[in-house]
Amino acid sequence: MKNIQSARGTRDILPEDQVYWDFLSNVIEKKVSAFGFDKITLPIFEDSSIFTRAIGNTTDIVEKELFGLSRLSNLVKDDEDKAQLALRPEGTAGAVRAYLEHGMASWTQPVRLWYQGPMFRYERPQKGRYREFRQLGVELIGEGSPASDALVILLLWEILVDLGLKDKVIIDINSLGDKNCRARIKQTLTQYFTKFKKNLCTDCQRRLETNPLRLLDCKEASCQPIKAGAPQIVDLLDDECKQHFQSVLEYLDELNIPYDLNRYLVRGLDYYTRTAFEVREIGDNRRQSSLGGGGRYDELIGFYSQKETPAVGFALGLDRLIDLIKTNNIKLPSPKKPDVCIIQIGDIARRFALCLVQEITRAGYNVVTTPGKDSLKGQMRVANKAQAKVALIIGQKEALDKSVIIKDLEDGSQETITQKNLIKRLKEKLSE
Ligand code: AMP
Repeated sequence: MKNIQSARGTRDILPEDQVYWDFLSNVIEKKVSAFGFDKITLPIFEDSSIFTRAIGNTTDIVEKELFGLSRLSNLVKDDEDKAQLALRPEGTAGAVRAYLEHGMASWTQPVRLWYQGPMFRYERPQKGRYREFRQLGVELIGEGSPASDALVILLLWEILVDLGLKDKVIIDINSLGDKNCRARIKQTLTQYFTKFKKNLCTDCQRRLETNPLRLLDCKEASCQPIKAGAPQIVDLLDDECKQHFQSVLEYLDELNIPYDLNRYLVRGLDYYTRTAFEVREIGDNRRQSSLGGGGRYDELIGFYSQKETPAVGFALGLDRLIDLIKTNNIKLPSPKKPDVCIIQIGDIARRFALCLVQEITRAGYNVVTTPGKDSLKGQMRVANKAQAKVALIIGQKEALDKSVIIKDLEDGSQETITQKNLIKRLKEKLSE
């Protein structure tokens, strides 16, 4: 068969893997609610300018990775539909758009939002790097104090603790300064790297003109010795930014959250100011190994609305977290097994069986049933495989009498019971 496969960089998450996703979602939902964050569901596509303006025209995401959308129809005239929609590559830009569109500035500040869902980037797929991947996003908007940076990092950390990953991961942290020191940082870095221009990789030569901070996170071997001698951003911060960063670190010390000061951390999105952080597996410095990242973005909202509104947030890459949970054999809560398996023999029994599926599921129990199968043996095999606690067996006689045989699959005992008393008896048996 030709073309029967998922698009490059996308993948199916099969039923057998859902236990991991359910575990992750449960931990996340519990923790974000405990920290007072409210869920928001954002559109999967937006006008592309929402992303290009927020993320920055010279970032990889905007330059190379945005998926545009168009209508696949011959009837669409050229100029119609030039709205330039794009699939979201991350969530902060959409969250900020929603904050402004719905007048959240007039709500009690800070506004705490979280969301979860697929993001799309046109990347070269490899293990841990997909074109469709899923993120948890958290945004705390309207509060500029270092304590709110610490609160958001604490939430991130507590999620990792509850996932059983606290000994496996570490947080890299840096400060990128703000608009008062950014020009000086850029100028100092540009001056430094220009001296080595001809020895830099081609990406860095280009970035030297467009985005000199990004030279600090280049992974090319030839750029490493040059990077090693580069001025450090923290030394170029003004007093306020220095003080802010110092306070954040003190809070993290107080909370016993492990971190590494990483002077090369700049993040791939332009909107960050001051604190920037990333989580990675301990001992793993590959680029596609970052499990999540975030930081402060105090200038982003003012860029759209004239009113400066500080904010801080992070995104966790859920696909990579699942990989880490799997490779570390983290013990998951056992998945819920079905309570009841219904086995029917013959046509009348099949009809009665479907009525019982309706009655039993309405009473709140889980049922496995294979109404297409006729043989007792085949259906018993399904019941045992599903590890149901009880089987309800219905033959012609039972169907006519409106009764069922309840077989306890743990001790093998069985009894016949009328439909009228079935739910009551199931309740007793299943709570034994
Ligand atoms: P970012 O929005 O670039 O800060 O990314 C936040 C997190 O999302 C990263 O740390 C990764 O865990 C995850 N992520 C980003 N891009 C991809 C991708 N192409 N495939 C899988 N996960 C990704």
